[in-house]
Amino acid sequence: MKLDIKAIRYLSSEDWRVLQAVEQGSKNHELVPTPLIQHLAGLRGGSGVHKCISALAKVGLIAKVKNAKYDGYRLTYGGLDYLALNTHRKANSIYSLGNQIGIGKESDIYITASPEGRRLVLKLHRLGRISFRSVKNNRDYLRHRNTGSWMFLSRLSAQKEHAFMCVLHREGFPVPEPVAWSRHTVVMEFIDSFPLRMIESVPDPGKMYGELMDMIVALAQRGLIHGDFNEFNILVKEETVGDKVTLKPILIDFPQTVSTNHANAQMYFDRDVACIRRYFERRFKYTSDEPGPFFADAIKGVTSEMRLDIEVEASGFSKKMAKELDRYVEVAGGDQEEAEAAHGADDDEVDGEEGEEDEDDQEAEHEVAEEDVQGDPQVDDLKLAEQLGS
Ligand code: ADP
Ligand code: MG
Repeated sequence: MKLDIKAIRYLSSEDWRVLQAVEQGSKNHELVPTPLIQHLAGLRGGSGVHKCISALAKVGLIAKVKNAKYDGYRLTYGGLDYLALNTHRKANSIYSLGNQIGIGKESDIYITASPEGRRLVLKLHRLGRISFRSVKNNRDYLRHRNTGSWMFLSRLSAQKEHAFMCVLHREGFPVPEPVAWSRHTVVMEFIDSFPLRMIESVPDPGKMYGELMDMIVALAQRGLIHGDFNEFNILVKEETVGDKVTLKPILIDFPQTVSTNHANAQMYFDRDVACIRRYFERRFKYTSDEPGPFFADAIKGVTSEMRLDIEVEASGFSKKMAKELDRYVEVAGGDQEEAEAAHGADDDEVDGEEGEEDEDDQEAEHEVAEEDVQGDPQVDDLKLAEQLGS
C-alpha cells in the first residue's frame, strides 16, 4: 500500500472535518451512514457534506459500501494515513515527507523531516497485510476480520510500540528516540545504519554477540522480552570515537514485546536468545562457549519498581489491549518466521515449502527482502505544511 500524499493539498477544511467524522463514526459502525457523517461533521447544509463525501471518495480516502440495510462509507487506509499525517503536521512532528526506506512485514517505513530539518522515520503499521503462508491453520481468524478491525489492531500496534519505545529510550536502552504517535503511525529518530541482516562481517563478532545477549538480559531485568529479537530488527550503526570506528546495535520493532510475566515468557526469551545464537553461528561462524543466558537467571531479583511492563500498562496500554494484539502476534509470527517462509529455510536447513503455494499467497504483498532497504534515504522537498494549505 502506497502512501500517496498528492491529494493532501486539495482538501478543504470541510473535507477534513468530514474525513474525521467518518473516522469517528467508524468506532461504532462498520459502515457509517451518511446522516451520521453529516451529524458528526457538524456542517450545516446537506449539499456541502455530500460534496465533501464525493471528493473524499474520489481520491480514495473513504469508500462507499453497501449492505442489506443501508449504504454508507468506511475509512480506507489512505484516509487513516492522511488523518495521521495531518495530526503530525499540526503538532510540528513532521514537516516533509521523503521516500520509502523499508517495507516491513506489517509496516511501511518512510523517511521524513521535522520543521528543523532533522531526519525522522514515519512507521505506518499495517496489520492484516500478511503472507498467509505462515498462518495456514489460522486463516479463518484472519480472514473474518474486516478493514475496520485491522485498522483497530494497527492502532494498538502503533500505540504499543510508541509506549515501549518511550520507556526504553528514557531508561537508556539503544532504541530510536520516539517522537510522536498518532493512530497507526509512530514518528521516531532515523538511525543511519544497516540491519544486521545486511552486514557481511563484523570485526569482533564475540563482542557484538555479548552486547546483544546483555541487551536481552537487561530487557528481562526491566520486565520485558522483545519477542522478535533477530537480524532484521537490529540496526547496526557506525560510531566514530576519535579515529576508532565501533559498531553499535540499535533495537527496533516493538509491537510483539511481552512482559516477563506472560504465560509463555520463557519460550519467548529462549527464542530471542536462540535467534541470535543461530544467526551468529551461520553468518559469522561464531559460537559462544558460554551457555545461556537463561530466563530464570535473567529475572532473578527483579522487583516491581524495576519493571517497565507494569509502568506501560499503568500508562494506558492496558492488559486488555495487550491481549487483543497478543492473539494476532501469535498467529502472525515475527520477522524471522516470515523471512524463512518467504525464502525457504536458509542454508543448513532442509528446503522448505516452496512450490506448495496456494492462491492465498498471491494476495501477500510482502516479502522481506534486503533490496527493500535503500542505502541513502532522501527527504524530498515536499512541504506538508504548504501542501495542507496552512
Ligand atoms: P516491521 O514491524 O514491519 O518489521 P520494522 O520496525 O522492523 O518494521 O522496520 C522495518 C525496516 O525499516 C527495518 O528493518 C529498517 O530497515 C527500517 N527502519 C525501521 N525503523 C527505522 C529507524 N528508526 N531508522 C532507520 N531505519 C529504520
Ligand atoms: Mg521488523
